[in-house]
Amino acid sequence: MTDSPLDLIGFDTLLSDDERATRDRVRAYVDAELRPHIAQWYDAGVFPTEIIKPMGALGLLGMHLQGYGCGGRSAVEYGLAAAELEAGDSGLRTFVSVQGSLAMTAIHTFGSEEQKQQWLPRMAAGDAIGCFGLTEADAGSDPASMKTFARRDGDDWVITGSKRWIGLASIADIAVIWAQTDEGIRGFIVPTDAAGFAATPIAQKLSMRASIQCDIELDEVRVPASAQLPGAEGLRGPFTCLNQARYGIVWGVMGAALDSYRVALNYVQQREVFGKPVAAYQLTQQKLVDMALEIDKGFLLALQLGRLKDAGQLQPHQISVGKLNNCREAIAIARTAREMLGGNGVTLEYSPLRHANNLESVRTYEGTDDVHTLVLGNSITGIAAFR
Ligand SMILES: Cc1cc2nc3c(=O)[nH]c(=O)nc-3n(C[C@H](O)[C@H](O)[C@H](O)COP(=O)(O)OP(=O)(O)OC[C@H]3O[C@@H](n4cnc5c(N)ncnc54)[C@H](O)[C@@H]3O)c2cc1C
Repeated sequence: MTDSPLDLIGFDTLLSDDERATRDRVRAYVDAELRPHIAQWYDAGVFPTEIIKPMGALGLLGMHLQGYGCGGRSAVEYGLAAAELEAGDSGLRTFVSVQGSLAMTAIHTFGSEEQKQQWLPRMAAGDAIGCFGLTEADAGSDPASMKTFARRDGDDWVITGSKRWIGLASIADIAVIWAQTDEGIRGFIVPTDAAGFAATPIAQKLSMRASIQCDIELDEVRVPASAQLPGAEGLRGPFTCLNQARYGIVWGVMGAALDSYRVALNYVQQREVFGKPVAAYQLTQQKLVDMALEIDKGFLLALQLGRLKDAGQLQPHQISVGKLNNCREAIAIARTAREMLGGNGVTLEYSPLRHANNLESVRTYEGTDDVHTLVLGNSITGIAAFR
């Protein structure tokens, strides 16, 4: 008997000692510090800011970035950590993604030396929080249609517009804001205490309740020329960061699936119906086997993409393969796990419905299922069907 589908295929033999050690370290942290409290945070709809500094100390913030106090870990180690965090909760993994893969990656990849020195060490330590403002109320899947505009005024930039769904914005110190300019889309590091900047958390979410997403208003926000990210031109800027974050999702969602599977497996072994454990019925075993196979395939896919990434060979459409497949399978697994818990499955005492609700967000942000299907359709046929 095993409670991990990964044991069925000897997945650990594919990992190095360092990779296993990183995974085990993050797993121990999630078990001790996050899992015991997550239902309460989710129920209350709060993001626990007290986890920020410990996550920094564990090297989870900017884990994949080199220098400037960042973790300098491999893509595979980063992925394994994402899976462990998301086995706790997608909202908590999302914090790490927004801070590290989006905000810090934007500065690390496109920032000036001065910007990197100023922000990255503090962000890696959890002493400063960043957010990433790309989406607008009327520009999500098609960010090229964004309306937020930055105009030159002497040496300054003056930014006006609005953003929606921006993770962490109300607790962030800086916002990486993507805006149209006369030269095309550019990125800016905007201090959140700048005059004219306001972030309001989005209320009444049914998903990602232990995390923060905000509406942002930018009303003639003035920043100096030095706030512009000098290396970012056009949509290549935000898309580079999104690809980093999407890669983390490929692993992360499989963590949520694995946690759902384990909870369901444990439950059906304890729970008796018609005089036998639920696990003793063929219908139940069919569900467990189907879930286990998809978890194994999802982790193998994530690992393959990670190895390609570490070799510098990962292509954007390959990330779409992972994001589309693993989100789709993870949410199906979480829902099946919920079903196997019967009525108890609709409470926060068990994780699967919380995971399934969170995964509705994860399959939506950083490219919906439709968008990644269109990316792959384009790769397969050579015909773009986006519009
Ligand atoms: C919890 C959460 C956190 C987020 N965090 C951030 C963040 O930190 N920063 C940020 O900038 N954004 C963030 N987002 C925004 C997210 O990236 C967008 O919601 C996402 O890109 C989809 O955009 P949209 O909501 O405007 O949907 P739309 O683009 O309006 O899509 C609506 C529907 O149309 C479909 N569709 C779109 N294009 C096509 C097409 N060509 N053909 C057929 N169907 C199509 C979509 O698949 C979808 O089903 C977050 C969103 C959520 C829910």
